[in-house]
Amino acid sequence: MKVLIAEDERRLSDALVRILEDAHYQVDAVYNGSDGLIYAEMGDYDVFVCDVMLPGRDGFSIVRELRHKGIATPTIMLTAKGELSDKVQGLDSGADDYMTKPFQPAELLARLRALMRREGAVVLDELKVGDLMLDLQTHDLTCVGKVVHLSYKEFSVLNLLMANARTTVTKDMLIDKVWGVDSDAADNNVEAYISFLRKKLSFVGSRSEIVTLRKIGYRFNFNEAK
Ligand code: CA
Repeated sequence: MKVLIAEDERRLSDALVRILEDAHYQVDAVYNGSDGLIYAEMGDYDVFVCDVMLPGRDGFSIVRELRHKGIATPTIMLTAKGELSDKVQGLDSGADDYMTKPFQPAELLARLRALMRREGAVVLDELKVGDLMLDLQTHDLTCVGKVVHLSYKEFSVLNLLMANARTTVTKDMLIDKVWGVDSDAADNNVEAYISFLRKKLSFVGSRSEIVTLRKIGYRFNFNEAK
């Protein structure tokens, strides 16, 4: 289980990292809002623990941005004591739970377990972009009634491209996210999967396309369904 913590109070962050690592979670800690968003977008986290008041970018806007991009990582917001409206705003922004500071770090463990138990209920089960619908459970890709099944890697590549539609996704991002940071997957692995996906997009008759940006990566461009 991988957990991302965005919290600028070092002592609290260090305490959370320690207790989570003791409980055998893999933990990444970042200390400002911009890093929080970048890590949450790129890392494959099971849970995101996000402070509300962060330098750079506040926790609510991070979660809204993630949800907007189709990233459904279960999220616990950390709020300061007494800021009751934070709870409402936190849940509105797409957060799944919140904790009021100060709290016992051990309480976070209980919340994490609860969140993972109901993870199935909060995770989005499909991603719709343009004329395409990607089923995040079955890995079926549908376009106006026509369906094709994607292999796990094809699904992972297309999921990342669709979630970042109309923005550049570099080859390094794809390799890190789909094959893993430590993998020695080469560029031509990525190219092979892009080529499989183009065939499948064409098979279902989609007007969306994966554009190659030479020496950089790819961009998923879409047209609205007719
Ligand atoms: Ca803070």
